[in-house]
Amino acid sequence: MKEKGQIFIITAPSGTGKTTIIKNILKKDMGGVGYSVSHTTRKPREGEVNGLHYYFIDREDFEKMIEAHEFVEWAVVYDQLYGTSVSSISRGLSSGKDLLMDVDIQGSQEIKRQFPESLSIFILPPSLDILKKRLQKRSTNDKMNTGLRLKKAVEEIQRCHDYDFIIVNDDLQQAVKEIEAIIVAQRANKNRRFPLIQKIFHI
Ligand code: ADP
Ligand code: 5GP
Repeated sequence: MKEKGQIFIITAPSGTGKTTIIKNILKKDMGGVGYSVSHTTRKPREGEVNGLHYYFIDREDFEKMIEAHEFVEWAVVYDQLYGTSVSSISRGLSSGKDLLMDVDIQGSQEIKRQFPESLSIFILPPSLDILKKRLQKRSTNDKMNTGLRLKKAVEEIQRCHDYDFIIVNDDLQQAVKEIEAIIVAQRANKNRRFPLIQKIFHI
């Protein structure tokens, strides 16, 4: 008998380190943590792999998917389209796994609306100065809009109180540890565990 999987929505201002944190969590043997791979029209950054980090598609194909209702949610972020497909969620959850989702604030609101039992985690940088340095350090082809990303970060940070958990990514390993602790604790949440206990003990 298996418990139902749990969605963990992870949101952070661009450059905070959310991809790095998620990568570290997925590397650990946590007994079933999956990742919802989004679709995007943005170009891959160095080292990004199609189907692993994102499904990189062109705007025309993205628009076809919108028309075919293949997205649970989608949003325009920095002039590019990003979306969570129905299949990325159903595939992840049907196997009883915990599912990490990396989405922006718009996406997190929509996922919470459609999956009210999901938990949301907001990751903050230690300061705006450090965020700026991290954005500049990341070797990307979107260096051009560092200023835009910083401006957006200030707005996004104001919304961190809407989330169930707030993590500060100062020391990477500490941030990873805190998110792991949330995932593990949530497995013992009575709403999640009780249906299984009922079946075993006939209560
Ligand atoms: P995001 O996915 O939130 O946009 P990334 O994971 O790409 O951010 O991280 C942005 C940059 O910051 C990368 O160069 C990454 O190596 C670096 N970084 C991430 N976390 C930390 C940390 N705790 N301390 C120092 N540098 C970090
Ligand atoms: P990046 O280009 O840095 O990978 O991502 C830019 C922003 O898009 C981040 O805030 C990230 O969380 C968000 N994002 C990535 N995938 C999705 C998605 O499927 N839906 C939504 N709404 N946002 C996404």
